[in-house]
Amino acid sequence: MAIATINPATGETLEEFAPHGADRIEECLGRAQRAAVYHRGTSFRERAEWLTRAADILERERQELGRMMTLEMGKPIAAAVSEAEKCAAACRYYAANGERLLADEHVETGDGKSWIAFHPLGVVLAVMPWNFPFWQVFRFAAPALMAGNVGILKHASNVPRCALAIEDILRRAGFAEGVFQTLLIGAKEVEGIIADRRVAAVTLTGSEGAGRSVAATAGKNLKKSVVELGGSDPFIVMPSADMESAVKTAVTARMINNGQSCIAAKRFIVHTEVYDAFLKPFVERVSALRVGDPMQSATELGPLATAAIRDELAEQVERSVAAGAQLLTGGKRIEGTGNYYEPTVLADIPGNAPAYDQELFGPVASVFRVTNIEEAISVANGTVFGLGASAWTTVESEQERFVREIEAGLVFINGMVASDPRLPFGGVKSSGYGRELGEFGIREFVNIKTVRVMSPSSSKSSETE
Ligand code: NAP
Repeated sequence: MAIATINPATGETLEEFAPHGADRIEECLGRAQRAAVYHRGTSFRERAEWLTRAADILERERQELGRMMTLEMGKPIAAAVSEAEKCAAACRYYAANGERLLADEHVETGDGKSWIAFHPLGVVLAVMPWNFPFWQVFRFAAPALMAGNVGILKHASNVPRCALAIEDILRRAGFAEGVFQTLLIGAKEVEGIIADRRVAAVTLTGSEGAGRSVAATAGKNLKKSVVELGGSDPFIVMPSADMESAVKTAVTARMINNGQSCIAAKRFIVHTEVYDAFLKPFVERVSALRVGDPMQSATELGPLATAAIRDELAEQVERSVAAGAQLLTGGKRIEGTGNYYEPTVLADIPGNAPAYDQELFGPVASVFRVTNIEEAISVANGTVFGLGASAWTTVESEQERFVREIEAGLVFINGMVASDPRLPFGGVKSSGYGRELGEFGIREFVNIKTVRVMSPSSSKSSETE
């Protein structure tokens, strides 16, 4: 895939970038290794200062950064500006809490002193997707740099300006040369970098296929890895749900980021008693969405990020309809320039249709009718994914069952699944492993070091491991 900025709203190529070659990759790895030695010796106070300055820059420049995101991947401008703000919030969270989250933990073991220390691993490669081109990177970088690691970013090939801007922001914030570098490279270079002895770990956010490939390489080289992959999140509506709120949230939860979010609600599982009460206003609201130029603040749904993504989505919908799914609205590419696709709702989806269990990465909602909570849980768990889930009910016993029985990394009751710097984020099953954000996120790329300092008189050896 060429490394280029192509406006998804017009199809115009605005800039092409020559990929970095072997010499540049070697330089980057050498610099990262040197920076890792320096950066691990800096104090939490210094790192917090640099992260706070990064937050200041993100907030000050949010309008320009927002326009850059929208131009490269098509998200509505207001959401792009908020994304810059959310990155600032993550930087501030780890600046304020990083030291506490990584403080030594003392353990009473009888003789001498014992504690657990959390030391940085070193150079971490981050392979990132285009859909939240700033947020995905900052949610890795803020905790990783605060923990004393250094980062190398291989961003998606369609967001090179964002990739370079992030490196620039962190440098201007005060992080030393080499602490965070962007490499403009294709996916085929990733394997060699993971294998390089100077790289300690890798994190990937992206598709299941890319996750399997990176996890396999990491495994072969015995490198720590975190993979955050796709999802086909359920949104369950039970009879006691506040219908107005459920419908309104359902539309936002599906259409956020032009339908291209890993934690977007993708499958709407509705109890038969409230099926019609949910479906009619849901379809009306979806059809009424304002589709158009993402640079205009009134636009609710912009183009898909690339023509290939739009074409794949169109094919998944066509095959689902051919298999017997009912098309309630939308279902077509929008003619003209740009990668636009109509906001779409499918219902009565048979088990062999792509919309039944594949991830549909665009503005297409799949609706399922169920007759009881057992069936709702079974449909919710009926895909290979397990990222997020949203369930709408005011009945406490139902809430408890959803929390306990849904196979997902995040379960939200009466609300939309969203990430929050204070809470761990990640999936199970084919949605990946490991966690980002919160305390668990900052502890992914650390050496959890056991330290025992014995008093000489009490020192004794153990024959077991
Ligand atoms: P993608 O094709 O997997 O790309 C993601 C990144 O991986 C890009 O930098 C890409 O580089 C690279 N890549 C692709 N194939 C690779 C391989 N075999 N080895 C190493 N690197 C590889 O994903 P996408 O289509 O851009 O993003 C959408 C997917 O990401 C969806 O499935 C979505 O659900 C998932 N996602 C998950 C989360 C989460 O937190 N769980 C968040 C956002 C998105 P190139 O661009 O150069 O190909």
